[in-house]
Amino acid sequence: MFTRSRRNLAYLFALSMGGILVVFAGVAYYFGVEQQLKAFDEYLYGRAKNFVSGRFDDGALRDKLDNLLPSNTDLTYKRWYNSQGQLIWYQGALPDRILTASPDFQTIYKTIYITQTKQRLREVTLPVRQNKYILVGYVQIATPLTSVEETVNRYRLFLSIGLPITFIIIGITGWFLGGLAMQPTRRAYDQLQRFTADASHELRAPIAAMLSNAQVALMPPYDESEQQFRLENIIKTAKSMSSLVSNLLFLSRHEGALDLTTLPTVNLVELLKTLASEYQSQNNRPNFTVQLIEKPIYIKADADLLKQAVINLLDNAFKYTPADKSVELKLLLQPHGAIIQVKDNGVGIPSEDLPHIFERFYRVDKARTRNSGGFGLGLAIVKQIVQAHQGHISVNSVLGQGSTFQVQLPLI
Ligand code: ADP
Repeated sequence: MFTRSRRNLAYLFALSMGGILVVFAGVAYYFGVEQQLKAFDEYLYGRAKNFVSGRFDDGALRDKLDNLLPSNTDLTYKRWYNSQGQLIWYQGALPDRILTASPDFQTIYKTIYITQTKQRLREVTLPVRQNKYILVGYVQIATPLTSVEETVNRYRLFLSIGLPITFIIIGITGWFLGGLAMQPTRRAYDQLQRFTADASHELRAPIAAMLSNAQVALMPPYDESEQQFRLENIIKTAKSMSSLVSNLLFLSRHEGALDLTTLPTVNLVELLKTLASEYQSQNNRPNFTVQLIEKPIYIKADADLLKQAVINLLDNAFKYTPADKSVELKLLLQPHGAIIQVKDNGVGIPSEDLPHIFERFYRVDKARTRNSGGFGLGLAIVKQIVQAHQGHISVNSVLGQGSTFQVQLPLI
């Protein structure tokens, strides 16, 4: 799928850039040729003008034309027609008796009899006037377009080699850029696929457990205590599924950064104090200490989301800390922000797992956390909430000694 999209991108890029290139080259070619021809015409016009300039102003006779049009080697022919367009004199190729060309420049094909090849000639026909008003005749000269043709041929050669090479370069660049453009989409797609696979995998096990519990409960002979046990199992599993689903919904709903300017100002000290006392009254944890600051610390935050993040950290700290060890919630004030610390003396996290623990569905010890009910989403949620508040989360942990999670949030 991605290769096809990348190919399409490269194709479209090459097509559009190639199109622009061809148009540009075409226009440049056209103007280049035009320019060459113009320069050539100016030269030819100058030559024709040379033949006749000043020669008739004094009323000289037309039968002296032989002298007026001296022979010149680079001209294929030169002709003199009178004012009625009848041929009076010529040198070079045999002309029509009557002037057929209108006064101007024109390009004509002619067979050159010396070489018997067809050659392209540029011909100019110039009216000659005596005292600027009286038409006395027409001078017509022609010369091969060889020099222009050589330049044009060089242009063509350059274009015929340069264009395909540029096309290939554009195609390669398009392929490369297509790959770069696809990268974020590819990453997002891979992430989504992994997420969906993990989510369905996590849901499959509890569904199977519920099914088997229900089947056993309905199996005769009916034993009331067995049925009771099975139903309790089903309720437990359903609750865990419901928590998984709400976590998944949470993650998908709160993706992206929050606009801090639109968030209410929250006193972080107050928020943590309330949260700690609620948490303690609900869970009644021994060895739980709270160390806050006296003076208020104000930040821009969604209080509910922030509470959720701290609760997840506390839940983990208690989940992975034996009852006789301690858990501490601490608030520190530093010049660059407020720091919330959740510190425990629990089992700790192996160093090779540390870079991954904020990933969705990542669990250090699959068996251990499955027993304690974790899906590996808690820390992913914390990270998402902290990042949405433009904050930063980090962890320090030593296996067997404990972990410290540190959330840094910007001050107002
Ligand atoms: P879970 O719901 O499985 O706890 P989390 O995303 O909250 O998922 O945590 C990911 C993993 O990080 C857990 O499986 C656990 O192994 C490890 N972990 C998180 N917090 C702690 C902690 N305070 N002490 C030890 N291990 C922890």
